[in-house]
Amino acid sequence: FNFATLGVSGVLAAKLAEHGIEEPSPVQQEAIPLILEGKDVIARSQTGTGKTLAYLLPILQSIEPELKATQKLVLAPSQELAMQIVREAQRYMDSDMGVLGLIGGAAVKRQIEKLREHPRLVVGTPGRVRELIALKKLKMHNISTIVVDEVDQIFQLGDAGEVNQIINSALRDRQLVFLSATISKEIRAMASREMKNAAEVGI
Ligand code: AMP
Repeated sequence: FNFATLGVSGVLAAKLAEHGIEEPSPVQQEAIPLILEGKDVIARSQTGTGKTLAYLLPILQSIEPELKATQKLVLAPSQELAMQIVREAQRYMDSDMGVLGLIGGAAVKRQIEKLREHPRLVVGTPGRVRELIALKKLKMHNISTIVVDEVDQIFQLGDAGEVNQIINSALRDRQLVFLSATISKEIRAMASREMKNAAEVGI
C-alpha cells in the first residue's frame, strides 16, 4: 500500500513524502478510502497511530477550492489538541484555502473577523463552536463533513450535548466521522442516531 493506491492525490502524497511519511498506517489504510467515498465512519484509534491524517487527508482532498465557504469542521476535546490539528492541517493545505482554530481560550472577536474570510476548514472545541453557530458567525449550510476526534474524551468532559447540537445544525446529508480510543454505549447511540450505514474500522 501507498497513499496513491488509497486514493490520496499526488499533490498530498508529495507533501507527505516531504515530511518523511511514505507508508500509510493501519488506521489510514482502512479509513482514508471510506472517508473519500463519503461514508460515515467510526474509527477506533489511539493517539500516535496516525489518526489525525487518517481524516485530514480525505477531508482536505474533498474541499472545493472555488466554493468560498467553510466546508469542513473538526471538533476536539481540548484547546491543545485543536491547535495541534490546525498545525498539522497547515502543513498539507494551500494557504489561501485557510484553516481556523476556534478554541475557548482565545478572543471570540478575532475569531469572528477571521470567519469572514471563509476558512475552508475550522477546528475547534465544542463550546466555542456552538457559541459561534448560535451567533450565526459560523455558517453550517456548506459544511459537508463533520469530524469528531477523541469522542470518548469529549463525552467525559460533558460536552456530548454540544456535539449533538452542532451536528444537528448542519444539513442532513453531511458526512460524519467519529474517532475514539473506546466506543461506549453513548457513542454508539449517537452514531446510530446520526449516521447512515456507518462503516466501523479499527476493530
Ligand atoms: P496521530 O496519531 O495523529 O497523533 O499522529 C502521530 C504522529 O505520527 C504525527 O506526528 C504524524 O505526523 C505521524 N504520522 C502520521 N501518519 C504517519 C505515517 N503513515 N507514517 C509515519 N508517521 C506518521
